[in-house]
Amino acid sequence: MRIEYDIKLDFKDVLIRPKRSVLKTRAEVTLDREFKFRHTQTTWQGTPIIAANMDHTGTFAMANALSSHHMLTALDKFLTVDDWKKFAKDHPNVLPYCFVSLGISDAEFERLEEVMKVVKLPFICLDVANGYTERFVSCLEHLREKYPDTVIMAGNVVTGEMVEELILSGADIVKIGIGPGSVCTTREKTGVGYPQLSAIIECADAAHGLGGQVCADGGCATPGDVAKAFAAGADFVMLGGMLAGHDECSGEVIEENGRKYKRFYGMSSTEAMERHHGTVADYRASEGRSVNVPYRGPVKETVLDILGGIRSTCTYVGAHRLKELSKRTTFIRVARQLNEVFVPYSVDKK
Ligand code: 5GP
Repeated sequence: MRIEYDIKLDFKDVLIRPKRSVLKTRAEVTLDREFKFRHTQTTWQGTPIIAANMDHTGTFAMANALSSHHMLTALDKFLTVDDWKKFAKDHPNVLPYCFVSLGISDAEFERLEEVMKVVKLPFICLDVANGYTERFVSCLEHLREKYPDTVIMAGNVVTGEMVEELILSGADIVKIGIGPGSVCTTREKTGVGYPQLSAIIECADAAHGLGGQVCADGGCATPGDVAKAFAAGADFVMLGGMLAGHDECSGEVIEENGRKYKRFYGMSSTEAMERHHGTVADYRASEGRSVNVPYRGPVKETVLDILGGIRSTCTYVGAHRLKELSKRTTFIRVARQLNEVFVPYSVDKK
């Protein structure tokens, strides 16, 4: 056993120090970035925020809405070939913003092959809760061999050495985060995790050294957190909870005591496992929770709130473009970041 005494940081532990700036208004800030990917050598330009590949947020309706802001969506892995075929026919212009997701089972590989035969998608999201296994790395190698021209995002991990291994094994983008998610209970159930801000800083450094990218996945609760993730070096940021509860999310609006909600559950929760596998296998514990999120109408207003917040962050530090944000950031350690006398910034504010 060993103990690391360095303090690792989360979003709530820091604020971004303002800097003298020549920017006049936040309208001068561009949030578009252009990336060239390590393995495919292709480029992509857009606002690098991704809706999470969860049942609730990884929907075609979400992809449709986010694509108009040049943002991406990782579609949930349970969509069928027919679902994809129909969507591709009706919305060919949205496909450049879509990730097709899969885990590491043979059935999921076969389904991916079928989907890619009908719709040539630009991005693949190879997603498991624990990206540290040999089996995961060999699945990634296999995927890279099979799809040399498709950008592969793989995860999740939280340490630099594993980021390097995944990039060398075929990932263009490595997804970072173990345990920070809004409906995740991994830390309670297993005691495993890594404070998300430090994970992003360390993993981005490792990835950039090899010409790869990282996607910060989980733990953002406010637009300020999304800005901090980019400031820490994240190339992409993935959001679940912040995009939950909208019209574009799956599930019906439910009414309880005169208030409207939508159901949002973790992909390893009992609810997800029962829905997709009929039951929770005896050998595993549920590592996700289910919540009723207040219903929030169309996602557009939330998106504008997030993008407006990040633009404002950029003006505070004098970054004309999102790309410059991390270079111009000094984080300061704080003991308190928000005044919560009134309603905290949360999905409950409306
Ligand atoms: P959020 O933006 O809601 O804080 O985090 C979203 C992320 O939480 C997802 O992209 C995924 O990585 C993670 N996640 C989703 N469902 C579960 C779950 O049931 N258990 C765990 N451990 N993580 C989850």
